[in-house]
Amino acid sequence: MTGPEPHSWVRDLDVYVGGKSRIAGMDRVIKLSSNESPFGPSPRALDAYQGAAATLHRYPDGTALALREAIGAAHGLDPARIICGFGSDEILKLACRAYAGPGDEVIYSRYGFMMYPIAARSVGATPVEAPDRDFVADVDAILEAVTARTRIVFLANPNNPTGTYLPVGDVERLARNLPEDVLLVLDAAYAEYVERSDYEAGEALVDAFPNVLMTRTFSKLYGLAALRLGWGYGTPAVIEVLNRMRDPFNVTTPAQAAGIAAVADQGFIEQARAHNTRWLERLTQSIRKLGLDVVPSVANFVLIRFPEKHGITAEGANNYLTRNGVLLRWLPNQGLGNCLRMTVGLDEENERVLALLGEFIRDRS
Ligand SMILES: *Cc1c(COP(=O)(O)O)cnc(C)c1O
Repeated sequence: MTGPEPHSWVRDLDVYVGGKSRIAGMDRVIKLSSNESPFGPSPRALDAYQGAAATLHRYPDGTALALREAIGAAHGLDPARIICGFGSDEILKLACRAYAGPGDEVIYSRYGFMMYPIAARSVGATPVEAPDRDFVADVDAILEAVTARTRIVFLANPNNPTGTYLPVGDVERLARNLPEDVLLVLDAAYAEYVERSDYEAGEALVDAFPNVLMTRTFSKLYGLAALRLGWGYGTPAVIEVLNRMRDPFNVTTPAQAAGIAAVADQGFIEQARAHNTRWLERLTQSIRKLGLDVVPSVANFVLIRFPEKHGITAEGANNYLTRNGVLLRWLPNQGLGNCLRMTVGLDEENERVLALLGEFIRDRS
């Protein structure tokens, strides 16, 4: 007996590996490996989450109406064109399930978010990697990769793990030049962090084109990663399709309650954003002074590039930091074996990383 056989493509599917959260033998670690907010959620979101305990025996509102209205009000969007998901990852996967399948191609940029090839393969589609330019997505390279089989283009803007972004003009050019039957997914998981006048998350592009979907998340700046809450904004047709694909109760009541309270507390995220902006600059300057390269980031993390000479390697630094109770993300599986990605943490956490990196380099110079 051999048992049931999955689809042929399921056998080759990579499992998404998240950032490490534990170090053997250590009770307390500094975890800067998953781009989580070091401040956690707004206290009002926590209250709302706890308040939902009274109705745990009831099914959630399957349409997440109040949450969509809250998001719509905060962003000036029509709630009917918003879909909520079990993390924005669910929405990326729903898009793949609805629009791509065996024989189809799904494009993403080199060093793009690791979920895109996984989501494409999970429906039997072929992931196609377009070259980047200096860690930035390259619109021309993406357009050149388009074939008659292309169904979806994923663009993380800002991108993870590079932290770079495309100005709205470039994204608009991508949208304008894609065939209308190719879905452009603008994954704006880090949009709330960006403080650049030429950046837009994508709402206006969704309104201007028939084939653009924007996704957002509560996992990053809103500090609610554990609740798994994301949302998408699209054309009525695309949202209607995604709604048919999703599970009827994909967002839990506590998640809906926390999300509603979180979007209402913009003061809380303003502080977290200001902290992040301050530290992005400081970390970039300080790490460069140590002789390492830092890719310019607009998100809540920096990609640190090591020379890989004289023992100053990303792997070596990762081991040194781990021995000292600090977890960053080493990314050899993404072709970034010479890089560590560091999430912006609390003041003392960032200071600790800077001190440890300084020691690591001094010991080898
Ligand atoms: C973290 C992240 C997500 C968000 O995932 P959730 O499922 O909403 O937690 C989406 N896209 C990118 C690029 C990310 O880094």
